[in-house]
Amino acid sequence: MKLYNSLTRKVEEFVPNEEGKVGMYTCGPTVYHYAHIGNLRSYIMEDVLEKLLRFSGYDVKRVMNITDVGHLSSDADTGEDKMLKGAKREHKTVMEIAKFYTDAFFADCAKLNIKTPDVVEPATNCIDEFIHMIEVLLEKGYAYKAGENIYFDTSKLDNYFVFGDQNEEELMVGVRDDVSEDENKRNKNDFVLWFTKSKFEDQALKWDSPWGVGYPGWHIECSCISMKHLGEYMDIHCGGVDNIFPHHTNEIAQSEAFTGHKWCNYWFHVHHLNDETGKMSKSKGEFLTVSLLEEKGYDPLAYRFFTLQSHYRKPLVFSFDALDQAAATYKKLRNRALAIKAEGSLDDALVKTWHDKFADAVGNDVNTAMGLTLVYDVLKADLDGATKIAIINDYDSVLGLKLLEKTENENAPAVDPELAAYVEEMIAKRAEAKKAKDFALADSIRDELKEKGVVIKDTREGARWNLA
Ligand code: AMP
Ligand code: ZN
Repeated sequence: MKLYNSLTRKVEEFVPNEEGKVGMYTCGPTVYHYAHIGNLRSYIMEDVLEKLLRFSGYDVKRVMNITDVGHLSSDADTGEDKMLKGAKREHKTVMEIAKFYTDAFFADCAKLNIKTPDVVEPATNCIDEFIHMIEVLLEKGYAYKAGENIYFDTSKLDNYFVFGDQNEEELMVGVRDDVSEDENKRNKNDFVLWFTKSKFEDQALKWDSPWGVGYPGWHIECSCISMKHLGEYMDIHCGGVDNIFPHHTNEIAQSEAFTGHKWCNYWFHVHHLNDETGKMSKSKGEFLTVSLLEEKGYDPLAYRFFTLQSHYRKPLVFSFDALDQAAATYKKLRNRALAIKAEGSLDDALVKTWHDKFADAVGNDVNTAMGLTLVYDVLKADLDGATKIAIINDYDSVLGLKLLEKTENENAPAVDPELAAYVEEMIAKRAEAKKAKDFALADSIRDELKEKGVVIKDTREGARWNLA
């Protein structure tokens, strides 16, 4: 399998630390708001990568953090506390906000068929681990105390900018207008490991530490949580490109200063989903969520399909026109897959040949568009239905498009058109009876339908019915 590695800026053959096993870490959401579909592009692509690794025979352990403390609205340690901002906005406590948006995140993930990582760990669970790592960094001389905060000293490293010349959009994060200089910092890029002196008097979550009551910086959580579950050597670390600087750069700085050796070998970064005005972001206020897509009548998996059509290393522009097209193509594709009859014999050797084709093509730096092309190739191929179905199921274990799964409606027994016409007529009569306040008639119509196995549910849009 080949992967582009942001550290070397090359597509490389993937070689894990331990044969057959992969330790993988994903920066999880900051749970102060819903995830927008840009965030979810990253999580879809990381999900495909995980599934592809499993498809290729690896035993994968994937860990994700939940940022429920310490992330300020500027990634450079300034601005408002994101969690506090969310809590104020909704007149709730920080923990209520964290719980609500963590649940909402995983509900969205489920709709997009994104597998929940093997380990999910909120930052607030790991305060002892953070304190321990910071103590070691202080002992080793990589950290210092200033103005009652603890900072990482980037001048102690031979090479802080490990990702090379970062001239892309992600560098913008560190140089946003709202970044005011922190005079406690010895060097411009130093960052906070532990805050005790906070400008937020009402900081909700605080813990005792050897340096006074306070709370952790954002970056320390990913180093600690990944090491807690994956040890000191990691294979793949994932995130969106905006995480490269300063977040991942700082994660590497502190992790390698702590362990004294190289930490993670491959860095997988997903490019942004943009709208007409640029990068989609939570701080912009209005942003697109999975629920909004659903309200507009889209199947969330049509959005997954939309993202799979493009390569993860290219920025992707979102528009409803483009989504409409993707949704129509996805529907047609599913219908073609669902129409295959499980006929003839299942040829395991052929399934294996097609499996290897997919592993080669998609395994070349997660080429999801090639994966879709291969699905069409299978549909066109001169193969028995039983074999086709097996191959498509195999491919879909990576693509996650539920190509052969019928939805609830599709599973429902077909309704006899004559019965449907009769029910519609009776429902109209019942509505009239209700309007005329003839509730006895309305009820008798309902009971009559019930006897025929028809259940009526009154909604704001009128009566809905189904067969019991
Ligand atoms: P956050 O919840 O803001 O910490 O972001 C969660 C994940 O989404 C991170 O991996 C980000 O790098 C990623 N991300 C943020 N904005 C976008 C975007 N517009 N397109 C794709 N990924 C994004
Ligand atoms: Zn992280």
